[in-house]
Amino acid sequence: MSVQGKIAPSDTDVLIVVDVQHDFLPGGALAVPDGDAVIAPINRLAKAFQHVVLTQDWHPQGHASFASAHVDKQPFDTTELHYGSQVLWPDHCVQGTKGAEISRDLNIPHAQLVIRKGYNSGIDSYSGFKEADRKTSTGLEGYLKERGFRRVFCAGLATDFCVAWTALDAAAAGFETYLIEDASRAIDTNGSLAKAKNDLSAAGVRMIGSAQILEG
Ligand SMILES: [Zn+2]
Repeated sequence: MSVQGKIAPSDTDVLIVVDVQHDFLPGGALAVPDGDAVIAPINRLAKAFQHVVLTQDWHPQGHASFASAHVDKQPFDTTELHYGSQVLWPDHCVQGTKGAEISRDLNIPHAQLVIRKGYNSGIDSYSGFKEADRKTSTGLEGYLKERGFRRVFCAGLATDFCVAWTALDAAAAGFETYLIEDASRAIDTNGSLAKAKNDLSAAGVRMIGSAQILEG
């Protein structure tokens, strides 16, 4: 659902900045169209939040989500892994590589946690909370709950995969959840953006624009 009106971030709100890494930016291995357009709004938004968490896609070489790890598969094909359907990607965000680094153009020195995900070689993890087997936790839910956060605001790359799945899991964990649309960009392969928007709406995730966040 889309929500109107201004929002003033409080001490119990957290901004999750999803996967703003070189490989998802122009020139990267899995560049999201117009991906660098998220950086300016995220930098502005982050100033309004006392609490910011970053996620970082962080795969070992030969990861199961890479098309190159499967015989006769191309990037953006789909395959069946032990936990279900998996879109296959170009090799991206390999641990320790430049492509996996968080963009230095992000200006969020006060970010409090970087949560890495996708490091189990056989399981992808779009979500910052739970891997694609839908069982293995990253620990983020416990972290946010232990710190007493109530509302979660998500932005970053890509809207229809890692941002959407992070927002869906935040909502499922009981947080009041917002997705900041103009601070996110989509890959949109095989109808993925329309599907993500349906899923977000069904889960009660609130869609907002960055201009609705009041800067402190
Ligand atoms: Zn990945």
